[in-house]
Amino acid sequence: MNLRHKFSLLIFGLLLGFSTLAWFFSLQLLAQVNEKWAGLFAGRQVMFDKHRTLLPLTREIALARQMAADPALLDIALHEDDPAVRARAIKVLETYRLNFRDHSYFAAFAASGHYYFNDAVNQFAGKQLRYKLSPANLNDKWFYSTLASGKDYQVNVDPDAHLGITKVWINVLIKQGSQVLGVIGTGIDITDFLKETVDIHQPGVHNLFVDRDMAIQLYREAELIDYASITKDVKQRSKVDVLLTNPEDIESLRQAMRRLEQSGEAVSTLWVTFQGQRHLLGVAYLPEIGWFDLTLMDPRALFSPQSLLLVPLLFGVALVLSLLLVGWLVHRWILAPVANLRASMAEVQHGNYQVDLPEIGKGEIGALSRQFTDMVGVVRDTRNELESKVRQRTEELLRLTEIDQLTGLFNRRGMQERFDQELARQKRQGGALGLLLLDLDHFKQINDRHGHQAGDIALCASAAVILESVRSYDHAARWGGEEFLVLLAECDEDALLAVAERIRTGIEKLETPGAEGTFRCTTSIGAYYAPAPEDQDSMLRKADKLLYQAKADGRNCMRYAAQSSR
Ligand code: GH3
Ligand code: MG
Ligand code: MG
Repeated sequence: MNLRHKFSLLIFGLLLGFSTLAWFFSLQLLAQVNEKWAGLFAGRQVMFDKHRTLLPLTREIALARQMAADPALLDIALHEDDPAVRARAIKVLETYRLNFRDHSYFAAFAASGHYYFNDAVNQFAGKQLRYKLSPANLNDKWFYSTLASGKDYQVNVDPDAHLGITKVWINVLIKQGSQVLGVIGTGIDITDFLKETVDIHQPGVHNLFVDRDMAIQLYREAELIDYASITKDVKQRSKVDVLLTNPEDIESLRQAMRRLEQSGEAVSTLWVTFQGQRHLLGVAYLPEIGWFDLTLMDPRALFSPQSLLLVPLLFGVALVLSLLLVGWLVHRWILAPVANLRASMAEVQHGNYQVDLPEIGKGEIGALSRQFTDMVGVVRDTRNELESKVRQRTEELLRLTEIDQLTGLFNRRGMQERFDQELARQKRQGGALGLLLLDLDHFKQINDRHGHQAGDIALCASAAVILESVRSYDHAARWGGEEFLVLLAECDEDALLAVAERIRTGIEKLETPGAEGTFRCTTSIGAYYAPAPEDQDSMLRKADKLLYQAKADGRNCMRYAAQSSR
C-alpha cells in the first residue's frame, strides 16, 4: 500500500469516526432542542386554541348573563301569567336574539316549566312559547340538572330533541337571591363551532375540550363528544380515555388539570401516547366555563427532522471534499515533491549530475530537496575534480608512453602518431612536409672510448640541440639508439635545409665530458622534402637512403632530395 492510499485510508477513518460522533451528538442535541422547543410551541398552541374557543363563548356568556339580569326576565319568571309582563319579557328576549351569534335564544322557567325559543329566521314570532318541560322527560333532564347545579352559568353541548339540532348551549340561571327561577341563554350551532375551534386543520395538531371530569366537550370527531354531560352520571360519560389509552397518561393529565385549576398556571405540558405515537400534550384551563383545552401535538409532524436528513448528506459531501482536499494536499506537499526527488535521484543514479533541482515543496520536504541538491553539487564537484585528475593522469601516462625517457623527445610510437596526423593534415589542407633522419657518427666508438654514460650524455645534448633548432610546431623523436627523426610541418625547402644545417652544426659544436677528456660527436643527416602527400614508409626509405649516402660521403654532412614530381 503506497503512501497515498495509507493517507486516504487514515483520513477516511478519522473523518468517518468524527462524523459518526458528530452525527450522534447532533441527534442528541436536536432531541433536546426539539423537546424544549416543543414545550414552548405547545404552550403557545394551547393558549391559542383556548382563546380561539373561549372568545365566542365568553361573548355569548356575557350577553346571556346580561339578559338574565334584565328586570323584565326576572318579572316573567315570577309573573309569567301576566300577559303584559310576558310581552315585555319577550320583547327583551327578541332584542337579545338579534345580538346573539346564532340569533336565537331560549328561556325556561322553573315555576311553569314553559320553554320559550326563537331562532335566526324568526320562525316562532308570536309563538315563542314552544312547549312545556317535564321532569319525567329524559330530554328535559338538562333543565332540571342545571337548576339543581345552582351554577350561575354552564356550557353544555347537547342535541335538542325538540328542535332536532345539536348546540353548544350557554345556560344562565335566573335567580332571585338564592332562589333559582329559570334558565335562559343561547346556543351556538355545533357544526360551525367545531369548525372554528377543534376542526381547524393543522397537520400534527389535535385539540379537544374536556370538562373537569375529562368528559369530551368539543372534538373534531363529533361522535366522541359527550353530549349533555351535565345530565349524566360521571361513569356514563365519554371521556378522554377513548383517546388516551394509557392509564398513566390519564393519571398525569388528571394531576396536570388539578394543578392548573388550583395554581392558576396558564399552561402545562406532558408527553402522552396518542394513536400509538408519542405526542406532546398541552393543557390549559378555561375557568370561565370550567373546561380544559387539550392540544395534542405530534412532534414528528411539527418538528420534522427533514433538515436532519441533510446532515448525513452534508457530512458525506464534507467527507468527500475533505478526502479530495487532503489527497490533493498530500500529493502537492509530499507525493509530488517525493516523486520529483526520486526522478532526480534516478537521474543522478544514471550519471547525470547536472540535475538542477528547483526547490521542491516546503518545510521538511523543501529542506530535504535542498540537502539533496547540495549533496548532488558536492558529488558533481568531486566527480569533476576526480575526472579532471584522471584525465590529467591519463594524459601524463599517455605522454609517457610517447616520450623517450632519456632525451625527452617523442619515442618511435609518439612520432608515429604525429607523423600520421601530419600526413592526414597534408592530405586535407595541402602544404609540404620535410623529414630529417639523423644518425650520430661512430657512436659505437664513442661508447667504447668514453663509456656508455658519456654516450648517453652526448645523446641527450644532441637531442637538446635538435629541439632548439626546430620550430614549435615541428616534431622531433628519438627514432632508434642514436638515431633521430625530425618532421617539419608546413615547411619549404629552405627552411628544411636551414634546420638540418642548424642541427648538424649545433651537434658538431657540442663538447661532452668523457672518460678520456671531452669529446665531440657529429651527425649525418638524410633530408627529404615532400610537397605532396606521400606514403610514410616511402618517405622514410628515401630519408634513410639519403642518410646512408651522407655516411658514405664521409659523415657529418647532409644529403638532400626532394620528392620527384609524378
Ligand atoms: P656509424 O653510424 O658512423 O656507421 O658508426 P656507429 O658506430 O655509430 O655504428 P652503429 O650506428 O651501427 O652503432 C650504433 C652504436 O650506438 C651502437 C651502440 O653501442 C650505440 N648506442 C646505441 N644506443 C645507445 C645508447 O642508448 N647509449 C649509448 N651510450 N650508446 C648507444
Ligand atoms: Mg646507428
Ligand atoms: Mg651511428
